[in-house]
Amino acid sequence: MEKTIRLSGIAYESLVNGPGMRRVFFAQGCKHNCEGCFNSDTHDFTGGEERMLDELIKDTLDNPILSGVTFSGGDPWEQADKFAYMAKAFKDKGLNVWSYTGYTYEYIIEHKDEYEGWNDLINGIDVLVDGRFEEEKQQDGLKFIGSINQRIIDVKESLRLNEVITMNL
Ligand code: SF4
Repeated sequence: MEKTIRLSGIAYESLVNGPGMRRVFFAQGCKHNCEGCFNSDTHDFTGGEERMLDELIKDTLDNPILSGVTFSGGDPWEQADKFAYMAKAFKDKGLNVWSYTGYTYEYIIEHKDEYEGWNDLINGIDVLVDGRFEEEKQQDGLKFIGSINQRIIDVKESLRLNEVITMNL
C-alpha cells in the first residue's frame, strides 16, 4: 500500500466531531452526491492534498490532549485501506476512533470482503456514523449527525451481536 492519503483537510483539535477533544481527518473524494451536501468541494477524487500517513499519525500521537480521532469527508470508505492503517496505529495507543460514511452499516457488512480495506476498517474503529445526508431529514439540534436517518453505531457491539447497536450520546 502506498503510504499516502488524499485529504481535503484536518481539524487539529475539535470538540464537535465526536466526544472529547479529537483530531478530524477529512477525506477527499466522495461518490454519494447527497443533495444539500455542505462539502461539495470534497467530492473530486483528484482534489485536496496527498499527505504522508506516518506523519499524520505521529503528529496526532504527539498531542497529549487528544482522546480520539474522527474520519470524516468526503467519504473515508473510498480510501478504507489508508484509514484502516491509521485506525490501527491510533487504537494501539488507546485513542478512540470514529468514522463517518455515506454508506450504511448493513451495506458495509454485506460488501466488506469486496472493497479494499473495508474489512480492516470496520474491525478497526469504535464508532460508525452511517448513511447519506438527507436534506429533508435535517432537524435542529442534532448532535454529531446531519439528518435523522444517520445512526451513531457502536461497531464492536454490533459486530459481536450481529445486529446494529446504536448509541445515545
Ligand atoms: S456523503 Fe457526505 S461528503 Fe459525500 S455527498 Fe453526502 S454529505 Fe457530501
